[in-house]
Amino acid sequence: MKFYDFVIAGAGCSGLSLATALSKANINQSILLIDNNIHTNQDKTWCFWDTPGTSPIPFPTTIWQNLSFYSDNYEKKEKILPFNYIGVKSGDFYKYSYEMLKNAKNIDIIEENIERIYGLDTGACLETKTQKFHCNYLFNSTSISVGHSQSKSSYSALKQHFQGWFVKTEKAVFEKNTATFMDFRTEQHQDVRFFYVLPYSEKEALIEYTIFSKQLLANEAYDDQIKKYIQERLHIEKFTIIEKEKGVIPMEFMHPDNNHNHIIPIGIVGGALKPSTGFAFSLIQKQVDQIVKSIQSGNLPFYKKKIQIRFSFYDTILLYLLQKKEINKSAIFIALFKGNNIGSILTFLSEKSSIFGEMKIFSTLPIKVFISALIEIYWPRRTKDKLYSPIYQTIR
Ligand SMILES: Cc1cc2nc3c(=O)[nH]c(=O)nc-3n(C[C@H](O)[C@H](O)[C@H](O)COP(=O)(O)OP(=O)(O)OC[C@H]3O[C@@H](n4cnc5c(N)ncnc54)[C@H](O)[C@@H]3O)c2cc1C
Repeated sequence: MKFYDFVIAGAGCSGLSLATALSKANINQSILLIDNNIHTNQDKTWCFWDTPGTSPIPFPTTIWQNLSFYSDNYEKKEKILPFNYIGVKSGDFYKYSYEMLKNAKNIDIIEENIERIYGLDTGACLETKTQKFHCNYLFNSTSISVGHSQSKSSYSALKQHFQGWFVKTEKAVFEKNTATFMDFRTEQHQDVRFFYVLPYSEKEALIEYTIFSKQLLANEAYDDQIKKYIQERLHIEKFTIIEKEKGVIPMEFMHPDNNHNHIIPIGIVGGALKPSTGFAFSLIQKQVDQIVKSIQSGNLPFYKKKIQIRFSFYDTILLYLLQKKEINKSAIFIALFKGNNIGSILTFLSEKSSIFGEMKIFSTLPIKVFISALIEIYWPRRTKDKLYSPIYQTIR
């Protein structure tokens, strides 16, 4: 059995961000980073918004100053002051991270399946089929349950699922400075369905078809919609598909498994996810930052998620509404974008708005729908379909 000070289970966004941040901070304790599939190729595009200059990122990024919104009857394009919308290609992130870790003598990287993770009185243990590792602290970004050899069943509630094509066109058709945040000009099928467009040049863009629903579609169904959108909405005749990406993000409150002092869940399983939007990248970076700072200062717990009760309350209501078949969900988003500038919406989604700002946003939304949702959630006996979800509980 080999001993490490820290074991990081999973070398995805959070595990790799933590390993590189520890290395950058010159933490010289021994570290094992383990994943059953060491990703090095481009497989995800992470986007987030930030105030220019606040958190410089050391690998290449693409910046959009404008965001646009489309529906059948309303559209707008705006500078998203005080933010920039920022895109990170996972391939660039992996390249930068592994270059950095290559020189870190205290960090071992192993590609093997993790079979079991469990706590000990004085630390934690991780087992693969052939090896066993003991450590002081284990940071777990996989969905393997502590004490079990099985992964937790995958997300069962509402999901954000999407597929995207990175395309190259013959003619210059994209506006490089403007990303399409949501384009609702597509059949909704009682879900929330929209397109998302990230241009990298006038001839290159990632075009994603995104759905909020419980059921995934067959691969061809996403592809058919993307093709239709490119031809009928963007009026592009000739293009080549350079890459494809797909993903599923839970839209539910994650309940980190915090039962063992020496096993710390990180990333999505550690609760670094905004359930109503699926955005996780910037929350993961904040979580990593806190962990590194507490290791440097010798303080435990490694991080404490600040629970913003009123934002959990808003998320609960929105998640409830997003699951109700009979509600016209796109109308909520259209009202939101029609009544507010995009910068204010992003401030609200970052949970940095003031109560005054939030009241202003709510005054633009279909208030009756929200009031009936509130009544249904908090007077559960009146709910016929038992969809109610008290604050913080997952809607199932
Ligand atoms: C395609 C895609 C695009 C996304 N885009 C955005 C975005 O634009 N903005 C945003 O904020 N968020 C986005 N997200 C959501 C979120 O940022 C990502 O899912 C992010 O990768 C989550 O990081 P994580 O470390 O929690 O999980 P992961 O990155 O999934 O890392 C978990 C790691 O654990 C490993 N693992 C699992 N089980 C085992 C096992 N048994 N043994 C060994 N290793 C194991 C996996 O191989 C994986 O590498 C996106 C997600 C996807 C899938």
